Amino acid sequence: MTYENVSLLFIDGKRVPSSTGELRTIIHPASGKPVGEFQEANANDTDQAISAARKAFDNGHWASFSGEQRGKLLDRIADILERDKELFAEAESRDTAKRIIEARYDLDDIISVFRYFATEAPKAHEREVETGRAGVRSTIVSEPVGVVAMITPWNYPLLQASWKIAPALATGCTFVIKPSELTPSTTSMLMDVLTEAGVPTGVANLVMGAGATAGGPLSTHADVDMVSFTGGLVTGKRLMANAAETVKRVALELGGKNPNIIFADSDLDAAIDNALTAVFLHSGQVCSAGTRLLVERSVHRQVADEVARRADLIVLGGSHDENAETGALISAGHRDKIEQFVSAAIAEGAVLRAGGARPTEPHLQDGYFYRPTVLDNCNTKMKCVQDESFGPIMTIEVFDTEEQAIALGNDTIFGLAGAVWTQDPEKAQRVARQLRHGTIWINDFHPYVAQAEWGGYKQSGIGRELGQAGLAEYLEHKHIWQNLSPARSDWFADSKGN
Ligand code: NAD
Repeated sequence: MTYENVSLLFIDGKRVPSSTGELRTIIHPASGKPVGEFQEANANDTDQAISAARKAFDNGHWASFSGEQRGKLLDRIADILERDKELFAEAESRDTAKRIIEARYDLDDIISVFRYFATEAPKAHEREVETGRAGVRSTIVSEPVGVVAMITPWNYPLLQASWKIAPALATGCTFVIKPSELTPSTTSMLMDVLTEAGVPTGVANLVMGAGATAGGPLSTHADVDMVSFTGGLVTGKRLMANAAETVKRVALELGGKNPNIIFADSDLDAAIDNALTAVFLHSGQVCSAGTRLLVERSVHRQVADEVARRADLIVLGGSHDENAETGALISAGHRDKIEQFVSAAIAEGAVLRAGGARPTEPHLQDGYFYRPTVLDNCNTKMKCVQDESFGPIMTIEVFDTEEQAIALGNDTIFGLAGAVWTQDPEKAQRVARQLRHGTIWINDFHPYVAQAEWGGYKQSGIGRELGQAGLAEYLEHKHIWQNLSPARSDWFADSKGN
């Protein structure tokens, strides 16, 4: 497949220009150079995409596909992605500046998501209810929720899209997706994959462009049944308020401020090494990044010294730089925010132990690079501990007891992920069960699988992606009550003076 027309929108099975003909230039963050021009949709285009998805949902053709057929289709999508993995990985790292090796890992994860939902699609979404009454059949039939608007961020563009598209197709929904305006390539390429795999016309639609214009109708249009959003808290709140007007179902995957708790009895070498991966992978542009390092007081100095020493050794570089260990930030604007975040943290009392500056190497001057940064002497009252930076910044806090570690870990408006490091398995389980976050790793950080639910407590979101619950997000549940021996109810009298 050549993926020739991916700069165009994809509406009702056709590649089309936007109604204004406006273009947006995509910049490669590691070089600051343009790498493509994409059509910029406006609200009219998005309205058309929603109409196409509505028509495809209502006309019965897609609805006539059995679960087995939808499952086979998802497997074909996975096959094509496997075949074209390198093209996708290249495009993903061009848009995001993530290292090519990371983009390949992402593709493996994406393929496994389609494979998992391929196995879920054929499962019967129907169950008989035991009513305790004779002569009645009571059935719960689960049906697709309808037209889904999907809005995705720039850090894991195709991965986040696959978490929505795979279960939506598995259940028989239709959709309009709007990827981040900064990283549209792979989501657009996926539309060609869906066509090749045999997804019927109008089931999948793509608009590209700015959130407020291209994305505007997605949360307000009466023909959209559900909004599934991954992105920042501020945007998520706005979309939820918009969706309230027409009572749409809302699924939100928002930010995180994730505690990584190191007890003194942990394997410190492994804990320190993973603490670096937890926060500096993809330059911290990961919703579940372990940005808050909580360390038991007796090992605080040892951990802080070693983490700072190792952070200073991290090699930055471009997508194809074989020495590079992590890459650039997504944009100049995002780097400006990270710089302000660090200055403000130091002003409120954080002690800079590593980083805190742009790199000085000449070959990194054109990209949006920022050194991995370690801030010590932090506490939960500080904004740098409470606010998401979405960059390569670790804050270090100290605790004395297990109870304090749990209290600190929960002292955040977010609740996406966290980790606990200890060689005491009972303590690990105790702490894990009391942390109010959607994923807890014990003696590990970052792994996830398509079979296990992903999502946030508190202001990290609503609903779950992946796993059984991730499928259920896209289902409505209908109760069919069938009286097998109809009879009068005799509630109301049928003549006066009875
Ligand atoms: P963002 O909220 O700025 O943008 C996300 C998407 O929303 C983009 O496609 C954007 O164009 C769109 N958008 C913005 N305003 C809109 C509007 N009014 N109507 C419709 N669409 C609109 O977020 P971002 O900067 O792209 O991503 C970073 C954020 O995403 C971080 O907060 C991160 O934690 C979060 N995130 C969460 C998860 C998770 O699984 N919980 C995963 C990845 C990223």
